[in-house]
Amino acid sequence: MAIESFNPYTGRVLRRFPAFSWSKTERILGQSARAARTWPRTTFAERARLMHRAADLLRERQDELARLMALEMGKPITDGRAEVQKCALTCDYYADHAEEFMRDEDVKSAARHSFIAYEPLGVVLAVMPWNFPFWQVIRFAAPALMAGNVGLLKHASNVPQCALALERIFHDAGFPAATFRTLLIGSDLVEKLIEDDRVKAVTLTGSELAGSKVAATAGAQIKKTVLELGGSDPFVVLADADLTLAATTAAQARMINSGQSCIAAKRFIVHKSIVKPFISQLKTHLLALRTGDPLDEATQYGPLARPDLADELTQQVEDSVRAGAKVELYGGQSKPGTALFRPTIISGVRPGQRAYEEELFGPVAIVMEAKDDEDAIRLANDSRFGLGASVWTTDVRRGEAVARRLEAGAVFVNSMVKSSPEIPFGGVKKSGYGRELSYLGLREFLNQKSIWIG
Ligand code: NAP
Repeated sequence: MAIESFNPYTGRVLRRFPAFSWSKTERILGQSARAARTWPRTTFAERARLMHRAADLLRERQDELARLMALEMGKPITDGRAEVQKCALTCDYYADHAEEFMRDEDVKSAARHSFIAYEPLGVVLAVMPWNFPFWQVIRFAAPALMAGNVGLLKHASNVPQCALALERIFHDAGFPAATFRTLLIGSDLVEKLIEDDRVKAVTLTGSELAGSKVAATAGAQIKKTVLELGGSDPFVVLADADLTLAATTAAQARMINSGQSCIAAKRFIVHKSIVKPFISQLKTHLLALRTGDPLDEATQYGPLARPDLADELTQQVEDSVRAGAKVELYGGQSKPGTALFRPTIISGVRPGQRAYEEELFGPVAIVMEAKDDEDAIRLANDSRFGLGASVWTTDVRRGEAVARRLEAGAVFVNSMVKSSPEIPFGGVKKSGYGRELSYLGLREFLNQKSIWIG
């Protein structure tokens, strides 16, 4: 089996890599397991020095890495640079804070002294998606390595060059080779890896299906998992919202990464009194966006990462329209089998339609009308997903009250949903469990050991 690097803009194969055999994978796992015994003995200061160096390398290589993403998964070059800079920031953040996040914590009890000590678990397997090929991996790897864990990366099969570039960054920064390895394997070897005793825990960012399979295998082995899965984030516009600000941000929030972000706003739930001007303004903003070659500095959105993803999105929209949804703006694909998908808006979306029930992982905005705040909350929560949400209102207290009632891992008032190193990130419902980023993310893969001195 080959792992293929394919340019979705030109439709050409860039490179093919032979997939690692099980014996090669197993050999690397052995090296990782040995590294997991020595790596935790290094000091925080030593690890921080290497992590800061990784941050520097990311900044130095940002043009080259952004170019790789543009070629391999169609990300506009300017977005790619921003992604790499955010990765560098996150490496610095954990280099600066890991020691504090793992400091012993005293607990009051009947003991003479009792406290919680934080210890690394060992080899953590990371199964990662293609949409933010560097960011998704760094937000796992930076806290894991700083905590004394060892990382094994199984990246999405369409971004092997990004996966290898990540491995190079850690190695060039001076991390011992076996502390972070990329495995060029298909998903068929993941189960076998999880079943191996030397893998202690698994984190997966990706679809609900992949998450449930990986978690089932890990569950059978009594291994900890963190799942960061899909989302269908509501963007709730209350009657008193600043309409211009909401509509401008709506277009940006829907179009993050050409529409392929788990925390992109996907369902626009708008008070009935302003729904018509909202759609009209949203349409104007979406139509003003420029598409083109992802390597062109002026390109604002590129093709989807693979043609089959665009075909699937077309199918979801067409099925929904056949079931009664109304097209407000039709961009879509120019022909089947091509990856470019232009922004689309649909309304009249009801339970039972695919657009209501499923995640639309591309530039399709669903606009739904709400009678009042109560109705908006009901619609927002009527979803299998619960990743992010945003609320738009000029009354901040009203916004906070609505935020508290939304079923989501994060709610932003008058701001689009975004991730940053200090804010915990993760979902509820079918969006997954566990948290990444902040001190919570670092502590997911630690033994939180209670020590009692009698
Ligand atoms: P995906 O198809 O689930 O792939 C994600 C990763 O899982 C890839 O490495 C894939 O490997 C692997 N995989 C797939 N099936 C597997 C299986 N049965 N066993 C083991 N591994 C398996 O998802 P995607 O299309 O790359 O990413 C899009 C999805 O990710 C969307 O639903 C999006 O919302 C979600 N996402 C969530 C977050 C978050 O933080 N919550 C962030 C980004 C994306 P192969 O490539 O080899 O199949």
